[in-house]
Amino acid sequence: MAEQIVTRFAPSPTGYLHIGGARTALFNWLFARGRGGRFLLRIEDTDHERSTPQATQAIIDGLAWLGLDHDGEIVSQAARADRHRAVALELLEAGAAYKCFSTQEEIQAFRDAAKAEGRSTLFRSPWRDTNPSDHPDAPYALRLKAPRDGETLIADQVQGDVRIRNDQLDDMILLRSDGSPVYMLAVVVDDHDMGVTHVIRGDDHLNNAARQMGIYQAMGWPLPVYAHIPLIHGPDGKKLSKRHGALGVEEYRDMGYPAAGMRNYLARLGWSHGDDEVFTDTQAQDWFGFDGMGKSPARFDFKKLENICGHHMAAAEDAALLHELEAWLTATGRDALSDGKKSLLAQAMPLLKERAKTFPEVIEKAAFVLTDRPIVAEEKAAKHLDDNARQMLSELTPRLQNASWNRSELEETLNGFAEGQGVKFGKLAGPLRAALAGRAATPSVFDMLLVLGREESILRIADAATAAGA
Ligand code: GLU
Repeated sequence: MAEQIVTRFAPSPTGYLHIGGARTALFNWLFARGRGGRFLLRIEDTDHERSTPQATQAIIDGLAWLGLDHDGEIVSQAARADRHRAVALELLEAGAAYKCFSTQEEIQAFRDAAKAEGRSTLFRSPWRDTNPSDHPDAPYALRLKAPRDGETLIADQVQGDVRIRNDQLDDMILLRSDGSPVYMLAVVVDDHDMGVTHVIRGDDHLNNAARQMGIYQAMGWPLPVYAHIPLIHGPDGKKLSKRHGALGVEEYRDMGYPAAGMRNYLARLGWSHGDDEVFTDTQAQDWFGFDGMGKSPARFDFKKLENICGHHMAAAEDAALLHELEAWLTATGRDALSDGKKSLLAQAMPLLKERAKTFPEVIEKAAFVLTDRPIVAEEKAAKHLDDNARQMLSELTPRLQNASWNRSELEETLNGFAEGQGVKFGKLAGPLRAALAGRAATPSVFDMLLVLGREESILRIADAATAAGA
């Protein structure tokens, strides 16, 4: 049986889930989910100052919003420090690591001299090959005895073969003199212990891979498959930064982008499947692989994000969309929907989701449902409620009393009425929009009438007809 694929997302908690991190998580999730594998989550919380419970929670919330579910318990890297130390000591025992007693000053002096002589400033510890019986009783760091000849080949699935000369690598520290394990060791030990088969991460970690491989090799552990993905750039081709727009995933949630659209868009940032722009999760899981991955940085494109989100809004199931809308209202501190509004919105969803790209746009279209009588017309809409219009509305009201409340009959009634008044339907629609929604731009008059129902519609029209002169 083929080995089960295990991927992981290993963010350092920094207070939010970065959009680039979210994409890394998504790629790992897609790769595992499409292959019957497991997708694990490890919080790299060894930096005690930055790693607050809130920062970890922000990552968990961001992933939950994006729908990137992980398997098993969340692993805390900091909680595994004893295991990291134990592996370092195993390496010492096996002769693959050594105690280095060089002080900071000595290392600095080595570097200064190397620089003055035009040599490489990579530190070469004089303790690498010393006999333990010659060791002083002094603090030491544990260093990996890295190979100095030959080269390290990273057979990267995205970058291709990357070769690094081993004489470019120093004997990295595994345990600091206070006994604390370094991050590079922790990553390797955790990935090994978690059974990670594929390491998919940003290409800012490519250089780390060469050093991390040294630890795998020294421990005799099988190497994971590496895939280092290009970072995300802004529309101007520069590294994505605050100046380009939102960086935190929760900001996109708060702006009201639907999660399915966001997933689709993030998948397309640096990966492609032919000309497919809009796809479902199942398609993405089936299609996702390293061969569709670009080598150069993807550019963030807000227009494309909106466009893709629009497609997902339109394709979403009404009930699911209503549910997501409610979650968005809660997440952004807006008032929850009453049961009555909820059932009206459920009815109106087919028209609300059309051409909407974000939840604020859905809410804007839903204004006719969400506002209560008496409807106060906005300035632009109020212009449609002059004396003539109000007269027209009051004449229309009794006609609506008797009409059957279905689209074809309403169309017949309103068109006939407009004709009788000697006006184009548009002349009637403006006042009706103002009366029903208080807005100049709304869904179609017929859609609103049908959602609101006869009684409420007539009350709103009568309100407008009898309002004090505009
Ligand atoms: N914690 C690292 C980061 O957030 C990722 C390490 C890795 O994926 O190996 O950049």
